[in-house]
Amino acid sequence: MLLITCPWCGVRSQTEFSYGGEAHIVRPLDTDAMNDAEWGDYVFMRKNSKGRHLEQWNHAMGCRRWFNAERDTVTYRIKSVYKVGEKAPGAAE
Ligand SMILES: [Zn+2]
Repeated sequence: MLLITCPWCGVRSQTEFSYGGEAHIVRPLDTDAMNDAEWGDYVFMRKNSKGRHLEQWNHAMGCRRWFNAERDTVTYRIKSVYKVGEKAPGAAE
């Protein structure tokens, strides 16, 4: 069983959480100026990294808050969690 640490509630079972995809996807500001290829890239194209991956999780069966996690896609180990709006671990200032 995978254990996930909610930044507000503490350690809980994975069954309490919903996966929300890659973190730090920035919604384009001027979508009318985008062509179909650019819009398709924004909607569908995501990293498929081996190793460190920054992703969103929702504590759906708990506080229902969203947060980000740094997870290793090889070992499934979650190295750290941080609140939405905070910098990712190891990110440049
Ligand atoms: Zn929670």
